[in-house]
Amino acid sequence: MRGLDLIVANGTVATGSDLVKCDIGIADGRIVSLAERLDGAREIIDAKGAIVTPGGVDSHCHIDQPSQTGAVCADDFHSGTISALCGGTTTVVPFAVQFRGQSLRAAVADYHRRAEGKAVVDYAFHLILTDPTEQVMGQELPALIEAGYTSFKIYMTYDDLKLDDSQVLDVLEVARRHGAMVMVHAENTDCITWLTERLERLGKTAPRYHATSRPMPVEREATHRAIALSELIDVPILIVHVSGREAMEEIRRAQSRGMRIYGETCPQYLFLSEADLDKPDFEGAKCICSPPPRDPQNQESIWNGISTGVFQVFSSDHSPTRFDDPKGKRLGGGTPIFRKVPNGVPGLETRLPLLMSEGVGRGRIDLNTFVRVTATNAARIYGLYPQKGTIAVGSDADIVIWDTTTERVIRNGDLHHAVDYTPFEGKRIKAWPHITIARGEVVWRDGAVTARKGRGRFLTCAKPEAARGGPNPAIPLE
Ligand code: MN
Ligand code: MN
Repeated sequence: MRGLDLIVANGTVATGSDLVKCDIGIADGRIVSLAERLDGAREIIDAKGAIVTPGGVDSHCHIDQPSQTGAVCADDFHSGTISALCGGTTTVVPFAVQFRGQSLRAAVADYHRRAEGKAVVDYAFHLILTDPTEQVMGQELPALIEAGYTSFKIYMTYDDLKLDDSQVLDVLEVARRHGAMVMVHAENTDCITWLTERLERLGKTAPRYHATSRPMPVEREATHRAIALSELIDVPILIVHVSGREAMEEIRRAQSRGMRIYGETCPQYLFLSEADLDKPDFEGAKCICSPPPRDPQNQESIWNGISTGVFQVFSSDHSPTRFDDPKGKRLGGGTPIFRKVPNGVPGLETRLPLLMSEGVGRGRIDLNTFVRVTATNAARIYGLYPQKGTIAVGSDADIVIWDTTTERVIRNGDLHHAVDYTPFEGKRIKAWPHITIARGEVVWRDGAVTARKGRGRFLTCAKPEAARGGPNPAIPLE
């Protein structure tokens, strides 16, 4: 047997199911041995006393995503993926978006050009499907699924993105036939439009009214409807960015009826609330995202959903638009009405530290749950497991060695994204990656980035077992 390149020694190694004190042997970028004691490597990193986890898989983040609104995505694949690895995330799955009238293949080709030569961590693509024409559904999409793009996001709202229910059924049928995972943004678009028009007529256009225009029933109803549509086709779906108790209960109820409905939530629903949208001087716009942050009771419900397994995935929904920028939150200059403010908050870098500190550190979740929701489950659900998402012989050596003893305050100036704010500014936490290792390379150590630009590789995704359809579609589909 050839020698090892690197050993991570003496750490407490957590996976989605185990907690083991062992050494990790790495060669050619992969984990090749796990043992009580290893030696004979070119480099040995002593992780004594430290928690060691798989690198994070952020399966919902927007990086260099083009838009038709005039807003600009602040992070390209270089700044976005550097920000990821500084926070312990070693795999990202952003979105190749199809604009209406555009071929899906063209969208994918364009997105490859944006990533290649820039990404410093490995990446796969979800597709965003906005124009399910016969050509797209009959040929392009099946061919792309076969080529390793095995998941896509659909929207029930946003005028330029939304599908109606019959289009959603079409998409679910193709997903079932070809074995792809469908992610659903669930909000009732007509309710949002109606409420927004009413608010505007009343002159209520400040950032705080963004939350008023998308109250919980809007999300709850669409979540219920998406689940019902998935039931008709008998194919699993994943509801993204669930913000509070009532939508979560729809998912829990479907799960308890035996349906394979997956749920995702995000840091903004644990650590932000609608009060953050009410900050003076347009500062509330920093926290405008959809669905909106709710209230402290809903935050507690989301914690409960993570610890009890209603949610399989905890992702950032990193949507980097700058605050003080006419192509960012101040779209067009000044203080736009809430309807015109680009949606989304940045969070690639802070996702893992926040959950390690406030979840594991405060005893709300255990380490195995942390690993499952930040890495393992996303890798499984999107066809990247076991190459990504775990610490096992044969897996890529994507590893985080944690410092969970130093207290620090989140400051945007310390982060590496290209955004001029973080919604978590000033939050005290007690967890940050001491060292991040990606495919066997140390890419972050003691506060310094050591990753070569463009080292990240494109990952094709297998057809996930998690997406397999059941035996009971409403009508025969084959
Ligand atoms: Mn969304
Ligand atoms: Mn998103």
